[in-house]
Amino acid sequence: MRKSVICWILFFVITTLLGQEPGPSQAIALVGAHIVQLDGSEPVADGVAVIEDGRIADIGPASTTSVPGGARTIRLDGAYLIPGLMNMHVHFGLVLPGAEGARLADESDAALALRMASNARKSLLSGVTTVRQPGDRRHVDIALKRAIERAEVPGPRLHSAGEMVDITAGHGARGKTHDGPYELRKAVRAEIGAGATWIKIAISGGIATQGGGIAAALMTPDEVEAVIDAAHRLGAKVTAHSGSPLATSEAVRAGIDCIEHGYFLNREVLRQMKEAGTWYVPTILVSQPATRPFFERIGSPPWYLERVESVGKDHWKALQLAIEEGVRIALGTDQLPHEPNDGTTATVREAEYYVQAGMTPLQALRAATIEPAAMLGVDKDLGSLETGKLADIVAVRSNPLQDISALRSIFFVMKGGEVVRNDRGVQSRK
Ligand SMILES: [Zn+2]
Repeated sequence: MRKSVICWILFFVITTLLGQEPGPSQAIALVGAHIVQLDGSEPVADGVAVIEDGRIADIGPASTTSVPGGARTIRLDGAYLIPGLMNMHVHFGLVLPGAEGARLADESDAALALRMASNARKSLLSGVTTVRQPGDRRHVDIALKRAIERAEVPGPRLHSAGEMVDITAGHGARGKTHDGPYELRKAVRAEIGAGATWIKIAISGGIATQGGGIAAALMTPDEVEAVIDAAHRLGAKVTAHSGSPLATSEAVRAGIDCIEHGYFLNREVLRQMKEAGTWYVPTILVSQPATRPFFERIGSPPWYLERVESVGKDHWKALQLAIEEGVRIALGTDQLPHEPNDGTTATVREAEYYVQAGMTPLQALRAATIEPAAMLGVDKDLGSLETGKLADIVAVRSNPLQDISALRSIFFVMKGGEVVRNDRGVQSRK
């Protein structure tokens, strides 16, 4: 008797709780904006994007796109809708040499996690809805990725490389290092086991390495081959920090997926990359004058500033050649996506530099959207504004296909159908 009463109470409580669960999320209609296409056609004027359950249910001109009854309407009159931006080289836990770096020297894991979560939130609000993290510390990047997926903290969609797989005396090597094919395979498997979907290695020296040539090839071909083979067998991709033509050429031959920075890449190696379909993430920002005030702000030491200047011209030339040769480029900054730079954000300034180096505005916009989506293997779901894709949508005030600097005017950000920023705040219920 008593048991059945308890059962009845439990049944009542459970059904009541279930009854309070929100039903299928309300449809949203973004209306009045131009829809920017990435296929070279003109933006669709007076467009409508209908969002249901986090995805684009329908998108096109108002005349042919029907808005379901009961949808929440958000007016974005005169704006231009573009896909959420993607930044492929971000360390949310970035620590650089200098005064700011010294302050963070004893940072605890808890403090690092909070700083990274704060950066992830700011990144999202700046219009960057997908980020690749090519190497952070103590797997906080993977914890952050999971926390964002569980909606515990706001942030972009993350693709993480876990900790960089370092060789002894390599660029950025801190703590544990691995040498020879055997140790490297083990290290790659450990990162993938911890949740990494990319592996990051450094095959040449770098700007932040004091001593050691940026153009030197640091890993032997059998080491690079072992890393790539071990990663590919487990379904992960490999990217390499590289300034060196020789190291890059060897890595491309071994089947690497992507090259970061490429400070000294020449036409020959870039052609090899183009032929092999190797991706290039230029992070041009790190060596160009627009970023100097940032380095001064964080108290970068003189040797660091000298190294930045010494690679700037070659880096710029490599980017120009890569564009000329048609190497597939995905935007990345190696700065926080939202870091103030030249009156805008690092992500937007990077895209502007691509146009200055020879891209059309369309190419630069693609490098910040559909190209990274293809590189990550998520272009079925992200990277363009099409029916069926996830609703990661950004609105700007003018046409970015005419002038890429239109990206400076981002005022509305939606991720997975959720409005995370709307500076106009013009919303009405139908
Ligand atoms: Zn980096």
